[in-house]
Amino acid sequence: QIFMPLNFLGFVYREIRGSLANIENLFNLLGTVPTVADAPSAGKLEINQSRIHFDNVSFYYRAERRILNHVNFTIEPGTKVAIVGESGAGKSTLVKLLFRFYDPVSGAVRIDDQDISTVTQHSLRQHIGIVPQDTVLFNDTIGENIRYGRPDATEQDIQQAIHLAHLEQFIASLPDGLNTQVGERGLKLSGGEKQRVAIARAILKRPAIMVFDEATSSLDSQSEQAILSALREVAEGHTSMVIAHRLSTIIDADKILVMQQGQIVEQGTHSELLSQQGVYAGLWQAQQKQASD
Ligand code: ATP
Repeated sequence: QIFMPLNFLGFVYREIRGSLANIENLFNLLGTVPTVADAPSAGKLEINQSRIHFDNVSFYYRAERRILNHVNFTIEPGTKVAIVGESGAGKSTLVKLLFRFYDPVSGAVRIDDQDISTVTQHSLRQHIGIVPQDTVLFNDTIGENIRYGRPDATEQDIQQAIHLAHLEQFIASLPDGLNTQVGERGLKLSGGEKQRVAIARAILKRPAIMVFDEATSSLDSQSEQAILSALREVAEGHTSMVIAHRLSTIIDADKILVMQQGQIVEQGTHSELLSQQGVYAGLWQAQQKQASD
């Protein structure tokens, strides 16, 4: 008789503790002072060709530790640039600067010759689509989670995004299709499925610039192939930047930037870098060996 109520009390206790932790996170978030603000004269970012240029960018989070050191590179319109390098080299920091979560300490990030610190953050982020490592899903249906990419999307747009993101089979396997609840109180999606939801959102948003942050955790090869071909569809004709951990996924990139301790130490195509016999060739050989082991 006493077992069930006690068990229930245990459940309630865990729920309350979980909610308190969430409330704490919320207050932390609300208390975060934004590090960048729009300049009073900030205009809208005007997208012309979507050329990205990191112009002699240096950056640190704390003055005693420099993270990026005179970084220079250009992503030409419609091309795909991959960024590789050991953990902590500064790859994700480049993405944070492109999104203007921070401003460079010196140098500038330019899109179509406009310094992004002179345009509104809203207009900047409107033109960039990101597929993050870990996608946040809301407690809502899978359909609404996809629609989040563009709230006024039509059913036809959503169906097309699902098709291009290789989500058709997955959605067909769900009990209520697009109306299936996902998130904390619903179905849990695997890492690969969540990334494909993020790709579908990005397809709906149709941004001029695409950023893909490859998950560090390895996916099963079927899931990885589905993601790669979905990404090829979405990146087609867009300027795109890929942070890659598995070199096998970026062999086709137009340019690969190799980072080491906040600097670009090599750049070129996969075959150019292999023939240089440098850092990239070393990383490639190590990953090939790991895969065959
Ligand atoms: P990984 O492949 O592991 O994701 P990364 O190359 O993307 O690594 P970054 O995330 O850019 O590396 O981090 C570069 C360095 O900056 C790391 O040493 C990291 O500890 C530090 N760093 C990152 N974010 C912050 C922050 N918000 N405050 C202070 N230091 C940070």
